[in-house]
Amino acid sequence: MTWRKNKTKPVVHFGACSDVGRVRAENEDACGRFPREDPGAEEQLFIVADGMGGHERGREASTTAVEVVQRTYFAQAGGGGPVLRRLERAVQRANAQVHEQAANGRVKMGTTCTALALAEGRLFLAHVGDSRAYRIRNAHLEPLTQDHTLAEDLRREHVLTDDEARTHPRRHVLTRALGIDPILQVDLREGGAGRAGDRFLLCTDGLAEVPEGELLNAVKSHPPQQACEALVQQANERGGRDNVTVLIVAFA
Ligand code: MG
Repeated sequence: MTWRKNKTKPVVHFGACSDVGRVRAENEDACGRFPREDPGAEEQLFIVADGMGGHERGREASTTAVEVVQRTYFAQAGGGGPVLRRLERAVQRANAQVHEQAANGRVKMGTTCTALALAEGRLFLAHVGDSRAYRIRNAHLEPLTQDHTLAEDLRREHVLTDDEARTHPRRHVLTRALGIDPILQVDLREGGAGRAGDRFLLCTDGLAEVPEGELLNAVKSHPPQQACEALVQQANERGGRDNVTVLIVAFA
């Protein structure tokens, strides 16, 4: 997929792949690219969400988050203020919606949400949970998000080493997610202007078993769609213990 507004606008290629994995019965991840069909779009939004709550509820949480974030974000276009503020409001609105739906059921549900907005060739990121965003530039992989997990908190406090945090039995326990509390703090980050050759990768934690070196290799060696499929396959070859979703945005 490619779009070109005019000579000054970046050409962006896109790929995405989501898979149930080898162990889970259902895929509770969700992802999307918006607007999907407008090749002249001024703004694009890329989202991954990893739902929890079991079966239908996890899926409901992640798809609700993706839908409400994109709808709220674009509804504020032209008057909604700076991009980061619009993103923050969109994630907070999605949090309120998932929280309300969770309150109507007996089973708790929640979801992560990592959203990358591309506006006027610049990148903006909103993030909650343990899905991740990376930038690949000049053959270097740079994490753009911080996991909101117990293990990551302990690593930052130097209670756990990097290796201990990576293999900690409670590494998947979230300290922040949509749908849990009516008030939500959203991590916001401006990613600067996209350069030719830049790749941005969004993924759920099903990809966590794949070493970062292999992420880099896959992204460097394949066009976005093939790279996403190769990485999902690698996650499955490593046991596929979780749903896995990979989304890549590439600047030509
Ligand atoms: Mg997961």
